[in-house]
Amino acid sequence: MVENLRTDVLVVGAGPAGSMTAKWAAKHGAKVLMIEKRQEIGSPVRCGEGMSKDWLKDVGITPSSRWINLEVEGARIYSPSEKVFEINEKSAGNEVGYVVERDAFDKQLAIDAANAGVDVILKTAATNVLKENGKIVGVRAKRFGEPFEIRAKVTIGADGFESQVGRWAGIPTNIATRDMDTCIQYRMTNVDCDTRYCDFYLGKVAPGGYVWVFPKGDGLANVGIGVQLSKVEGIAAPRKFLDDWIAKHPGYAKGKTIDVVGGGVSISPPLKQTVADGIMLVGDAARMIDPLTGGGIANGCIAGKICGEVAANAVHADMVSKEFLQAYEKGWRAKLEEKLYRNWLAKEKLCSISDETFDKVIDALQDVKLQKLNVHNILKAVRDKYPEVTRDFEAFL
Ligand code: FAD
Repeated sequence: MVENLRTDVLVVGAGPAGSMTAKWAAKHGAKVLMIEKRQEIGSPVRCGEGMSKDWLKDVGITPSSRWINLEVEGARIYSPSEKVFEINEKSAGNEVGYVVERDAFDKQLAIDAANAGVDVILKTAATNVLKENGKIVGVRAKRFGEPFEIRAKVTIGADGFESQVGRWAGIPTNIATRDMDTCIQYRMTNVDCDTRYCDFYLGKVAPGGYVWVFPKGDGLANVGIGVQLSKVEGIAAPRKFLDDWIAKHPGYAKGKTIDVVGGGVSISPPLKQTVADGIMLVGDAARMIDPLTGGGIANGCIAGKICGEVAANAVHADMVSKEFLQAYEKGWRAKLEEKLYRNWLAKEKLCSISDETFDKVIDALQDVKLQKLNVHNILKAVRDKYPEVTRDFEAFL
């Protein structure tokens, strides 16, 4: 029989958001337990493995060759007829900068958390929350299939895109199918990828999403696709689109696939509520993925730091009410919310643009020099060449 446990802060899920939350709560003096239902942190990898760089220092992550495959100069955006627009790493959004070994990255964050004093238990799944007088006081869990309880002053739902912790706690977490992308990703070897760029292919090759090629070096790349769930039919649709794209690109058609993983990402605005009495949600569980790029590692970690600090403060003050935990709600929204909404609107616009318009926009942008990349120059380039599409494009920007 597994013994019941008691802690200050319980983190459910050992992804980047969970490990970051756990680490910062422990660093601020709380007793922290992190549980993970998988048998190995970070595996299987469900990720394109691209991330930007500028946020890492702020959350206390030291870049390391243990998890960085390579550093790219920028991104190439391909229109439906494969006109290309290059964009430098700084302007390219939160999936461009490093291409990482995601399993090693997640493990490193868990190691950092453990080094800060966090206890970690694997093969342990939360199965429901414990509620007393409307307040969350921990979870029911199963370890190697055996039920037990974990009592906590503060519970953190860091359980990813398919999060249940929030729903169990009574926080509205519904999402529309048009705000979901379904993805599949191959790690491929023997491909002709360019290690200077993360590549994105837009338009009909991936309805409502894109095909990505993120180079990992030595002919190795993470090649994947995300398509809007409401625009495709059947569970096999993303694989079919990706296989079609690969078949049409000889540099990839000759490649060999060494692993395949599917998964989902939210392309929605963030949850309206991420705290309740005794509980906070973070990362994908709070729908913090950037709706335009599908990148969620950075936002999960940025919010995780704030979440961990607020959790520790709540424990020290012995105040875990929704009102007290608002410090987290306000803190992460101040840092991330405006961009999440802006990019959600941009995503909505992007999904409605025809392939023909896409081609014109990317064609016009080919003339814009990287160092002069700003909204004004982009608009001017499009207006000069294709005045008829500027109105559409202005709204998108
Ligand atoms: P997760 O990493 O999903 O971690 C949640 C953890 O909780 C998991 O380990 C899970 O096993 C565990 N868990 C779930 N339920 C329970 C339970 N009941 N009890 C215990 N443990 C539980 N983002 C980028 O920035 N760059 C990319 O290139 C990129 N590519 C992507 C490609 C694909 C195919 C997908 C699906 C996503 C991609 N993302 C990318 C998004 C990114 O992977 C997520 O935003 C990121 O993993 C969020 O971290 P998280 O900690 O919130 O959730």
